[in-house]
Amino acid sequence: MTAAEPPTDDQALRAAYQATRALLRTKDTDSAQAIIVRLCEQMGARVVPADGNETATLPIDISLDGGEPRVLAADSAAVQRLVSRFVVPAVNDARLMVRHRNSRDSLTTDATRDALTGLWNRRSLELALNRAAAGDSIALVDLDHFKRVNDTFGHAAGDEVLSTFARFVRRRLRHLDIVGRLGGEEFVIIYPDAPLAEAAQWLCQVRAEWASEAPYATTFSAGVASVPGEDETSGERPGQVALALADALMYQAKTAGRNRVCRQDADFATCGGDEG
Ligand code: GH3
Ligand code: MG
Ligand code: MG
Repeated sequence: MTAAEPPTDDQALRAAYQATRALLRTKDTDSAQAIIVRLCEQMGARVVPADGNETATLPIDISLDGGEPRVLAADSAAVQRLVSRFVVPAVNDARLMVRHRNSRDSLTTDATRDALTGLWNRRSLELALNRAAAGDSIALVDLDHFKRVNDTFGHAAGDEVLSTFARFVRRRLRHLDIVGRLGGEEFVIIYPDAPLAEAAQWLCQVRAEWASEAPYATTFSAGVASVPGEDETSGERPGQVALALADALMYQAKTAGRNRVCRQDADFATCGGDEG
């Protein structure tokens, strides 16, 4: 079957049937769109970008929600007939399928993500903490004097700081790192396979950057600890042990004057607190 030679009705029907079966198995918009494009080509129609200079003889929008805009061009009456009979229903099926899949994904997102920041929520953080193992590091981050932001500029301004902070941190982490909102203005970061020194260095850098560009001149205090081996804890989950230590270190940073990072090691090294 080529673009120059339109298929017979039997061939077209078989191609449409195969496309529908493939659509049912697709996981994302891009592959659904690829199936539709292939079906169009099997019908002898041409697919052109919606914003291209080419003028389509039979412009039919075959783009799916979230996919690249594309239209279809059919150059003969035979192809036009095949398109309206087989492609249009397949596009409608694909749109329904994509919408259904997206709404199912957003339900999953709601259960695992924090609604305000889009970061992992407390529940999914707990699961990740239970999987943390020796070799990983864990940080607890708490925004300083956050109540003052709410009291002075209003709750909406406070919310804006929280979501700005979430984006700020996310952009600076590696793909495999996990960041979640434990509650209020407290965040947990899990750095898989990262030695304490590396995680601490990252936090020190990020603390300084945040202090220089944060909305309403907010700062944060943090504690960072390494996850112990199973044999070093008395039955407790290693990730939970490291979180408790990071929490104690975070309070130490608060007591020392805030806007600093306290790290677990021989003499509880600190960075920050130098910018007032
Ligand atoms: P510290 O430096 O000791 O951490 O002081 P703080 O003011 O940050 O801490 P405190 O625990 O006294 O206050 C935390 C505030 O965070 C109080 C609460 O109103 C606010 N908060 C908690 N969750 C949210 C939220 O979702 N949105 C907003 N805007 N504020 C929140
Ligand atoms: Mg706070
Ligand atoms: Mg707090």
